[in-house]
Amino acid sequence: MNLNKNKIRAVYPGSFDPVTNGHICIAQRAAEIFDEVIVAILMNTQKDPSFSVEERQQMTEEALVDINNVQVCAFSGLLVNFMQSLGSKVIIRGLRAMSDFEYEFQMALMNRQLAPDIETFFIVTEPQYSYLSSSAVKNVFQFGGDISSMVPDCVRNRMKNRIHEYPNQIIKNRTKPFE
Ligand code: ADP
Repeated sequence: MNLNKNKIRAVYPGSFDPVTNGHICIAQRAAEIFDEVIVAILMNTQKDPSFSVEERQQMTEEALVDINNVQVCAFSGLLVNFMQSLGSKVIIRGLRAMSDFEYEFQMALMNRQLAPDIETFFIVTEPQYSYLSSSAVKNVFQFGGDISSMVPDCVRNRMKNRIHEYPNQIIKNRTKPFE
């Protein structure tokens, strides 16, 4: 029996606006299963991001620096095209509640239609992160709540600096990314 296998490179795409402990948990668990994990930050998100792509990448890199087989990069355009350019056939997505399911199911089927050789793998969140989203973190922070159990220190520090620099600026519902 020959058990040698080719290395499997998985891509974990998302907005990561900003990266949360829920994202980190999914990236860590993916890194235990796949040989290489690329956390891919979407540039042209329709979600009107609060943080620039450079900031999102920097924070995510810092948060994941201790995991050897994880790399962070930014991409634009179709995910499947980006994956083909990397030679990856595995998409990682995290699943929280059933409310994630419909969107994720649609995306997985769309990507399958576009690139039938690419598979989407779902990792179910840890219960303690099931309520956690980037937008919830920004909301809680904006109203002075404690986010220390929700995001890594690098994210919390950057958000604190933002508030000092732009005290009147509301983090959610911004019309353009921070410069
Ligand atoms: P997108 O805009 O692509 O949904 P996000 O940054 O919101 O990007 O999420 C990226 C991926 O991480 C999605 O699959 C999402 O379901 C998953 N995710 C987000 N927050 C959590 C969490 N707390 N636990 C598990 N997975 C999560």
